[in-house]
Amino acid sequence: MEKLEQLYEGKAKKVFKTDNPDEFIIEYKDDATAFNGEKKGSIGGKGIINNKMTAVIFTMLEEQGIKTHFIKLLSDKEQLVKAVTIFPLEVIIRNTAAGSICKRLGLTEGQKLESPIFEFCYKNDDYGDPVINDYHAIAMKLATKEEIEVIRDTTFQINDILLKYFLEKGINLIDFKIEFGKTSDGQIVLADEISPDTCRFWDVETGEKLDKDRFRRDLGNIEEAYEEMLKRIEC
Ligand code: UDP
Repeated sequence: MEKLEQLYEGKAKKVFKTDNPDEFIIEYKDDATAFNGEKKGSIGGKGIINNKMTAVIFTMLEEQGIKTHFIKLLSDKEQLVKAVTIFPLEVIIRNTAAGSICKRLGLTEGQKLESPIFEFCYKNDDYGDPVINDYHAIAMKLATKEEIEVIRDTTFQINDILLKYFLEKGINLIDFKIEFGKTSDGQIVLADEISPDTCRFWDVETGEKLDKDRFRRDLGNIEEAYEEMLKRIEC
């Protein structure tokens, strides 16, 4: 298939049309941003790692009955996906308190939560991706009540699968952000990526952070942490 005009360029990926209207090509970039674009940089090898890791995880999720946009890997940095319209919602699950919720609610980083917290953020950089609830999403026509139900149920299922999957690899899944899209025939599928850019991964034994917090907080060994995560999921 052919890579045609670029549809969109985000902070970490580019999306291209193909000669098939139902398929897009995603190209993963090494660019990294944090704090709503205030901090900018590049993480060597990130594009390759996140492309591969998303492919492995989305394939595993498909095997467990979760519908995703992933079709196949095309190259080191490119994958073929189903064309979808992305819901402007960042869907977050938190198993352990970390990051923004600690500042927002006075929780201690590393505090295990009694039950997972489900959050929506309105995906809009101009307003700093604010936290919203179902009522905002429905009132603002970001998704319907029925779509939200599918998204929430699927997200909790994904959390159950991922928690177990990563624990077997010696990783504590602290929290993650996912996105959903709708295909031309109306199916709601998991889209975007699952990678150290979009999840918090802590080593079970040492508590070492193996994710983008190394970039956000200037902890060093960023590339090594991403490499380590890929190694863990590949064996
Ligand atoms: N996250 C993301 N993109 C964003 C904001 C958050 O992928 O634009 C992920 C982040 O990596 C973490 C989870 O969502 O795994 C929760 O992030 P949080 O709200 O704590 O925000 P942060 O501390 O990253 O600003």
